[in-house]
Amino acid sequence: MTKYIFITGGVVSGLGKGIAAASLGLILKSRGLKVVNQKFDPYLNIDPGTMNPYQHGEVFVTDDGAETDLDLGHYERFTDATLSKSSNTTAGRVYLAVLNKEREGGFNGGTVQVIPNITEEILYRMKLAEKESHPDIIITEIGGTVGDIESLPFIEAIRQMKYDIGEENCCYIHLTLIPYIKKADELKTKPTQHSVKELQELGIKPNIVMVRTEKPLGNTTREKLAAFCNIGTEDLIQNFTARSIYEVPLQLEKEGIGDAVCKALSLKCAPTHLEDWAKMVWRYENPKQSVNIALVGKYVGLHDAYLSVVESLVHGGIFNEADIAVDWVDAEILNDKKAAEERLKNADGIIVPGGFGDRGIEGMINAAAFARSHKIPYFGICLGMQIMVIEYARNVLGLKGANSTEIDKKTQYPVIDLMPDQNGVILGGTLRLGKYKCAVMPGTLSEKAYKEKTVWERHRHRYEFNNKFREELKNAGLIIAGINPERDLVEICEVPDHPWMVGVQFHPEFKSRPNRAQPLFRDFITEVCAYAAAHKNKG
Ligand code: GLN
Repeated sequence: MTKYIFITGGVVSGLGKGIAAASLGLILKSRGLKVVNQKFDPYLNIDPGTMNPYQHGEVFVTDDGAETDLDLGHYERFTDATLSKSSNTTAGRVYLAVLNKEREGGFNGGTVQVIPNITEEILYRMKLAEKESHPDIIITEIGGTVGDIESLPFIEAIRQMKYDIGEENCCYIHLTLIPYIKKADELKTKPTQHSVKELQELGIKPNIVMVRTEKPLGNTTREKLAAFCNIGTEDLIQNFTARSIYEVPLQLEKEGIGDAVCKALSLKCAPTHLEDWAKMVWRYENPKQSVNIALVGKYVGLHDAYLSVVESLVHGGIFNEADIAVDWVDAEILNDKKAAEERLKNADGIIVPGGFGDRGIEGMINAAAFARSHKIPYFGICLGMQIMVIEYARNVLGLKGANSTEIDKKTQYPVIDLMPDQNGVILGGTLRLGKYKCAVMPGTLSEKAYKEKTVWERHRHRYEFNNKFREELKNAGLIIAGINPERDLVEICEVPDHPWMVGVQFHPEFKSRPNRAQPLFRDFITEVCAYAAAHKNKG
């Protein structure tokens, strides 16, 4: 029988519910349990795929091609799981399903209401993972903050769950904030008291209250707060601001979260084993050198827009015992060549991640040109590979004005274009999403990294390397290092006579793990470290 853990948030948003949920997943997995993490978001978009990265951060893509919330990236990285379409549900998707059923006459003339119709649909979707993979535990994070109007049906659904599957199979964890008032040197528990009261008014008594706090609560405060929250002091878990997100599972376990959850769910299981994880954290926090990587993009004002890319750089850093300093470079500033050279002169490596639209494109091309001519390690991801191809076509092959038709519809040299044979859709086709096969060419840097002939990576893009220019670009030296064999699409390009300039059409950042860096990220950082060591006195 699958048991359910629900994580809600209170007081303010952005407390790290996703990290807490992911950490708990890791802890329970290390106790020998089969765990699935999922997220239910109360907003009305069908999925975050259409949202501006500035509003919602990165869109995380699963193997099966779902565009999901970035917290799923934390779940996969912490628990080393492969999640699916059913792992992220929004209120929009729930309402759409109910309304479609209504249009099809599925309610036999009944009145369709939030309770029971929407709540039933939520409960059905919350249990999908149970049918799909029969885990011991499903951890469900509820997006938003308790008290929001739009999250009410979700709170009601999880309240009902307890009566559906029994009290011993349901554990509610509420995460709140304890503000610290510096002037008075005091920790304030009132917002937590109010938030727990609000949750109880909605019919849910939390089993565990987890509090984000800068400082440890004293014994008297602990006892007072636990009493107000209707829990024992052992079920009040402190969640301190950690040095890194990967330290959070270690801290929460020290606070007793694993035992508290097992008690609430009457679970008998092995003790927590986080030894390997702790070693990884130690390595992360004790680097032997520091490297400077320029991340050139158009959404650099919100770092969450590139979350998985930065985490993957960190993973490469952990492997290479290097601290990664990300230099956030707004691509538009690089539109001027001279400005680009000045801005990038201290970079030990340059990364151009994914993106859409034309803003900052010329700046990215200047960054690629600078990396190529100065032999600085360069990693191009999705748009970053397209940029690398455009730069090569313009500056090596001499195709003046070469471009992607996403940027310049009338370019004479559309080296990146929509493929007419791709699903037969020429204009406004849907994105190519999810995992696809890539055959890796022998003797390339990519083969050296992957050590495999065939790899599967996740995609999220619409435009492709234009095969009409393939021969010409190859003759000019560009190395085609990876191909999708089914459709003969270029997946990886490499620049010759350069230590490491690699562009990939897919998103390798979605498959990297802290203790198993994605091979291309790992090797990119190895090269960045070598470059930094050789140019120590550059700055
Ligand atoms: N805009 C490009 C395309 O659609 C790249 C997308 C991306 O970088 N994710 O092909």
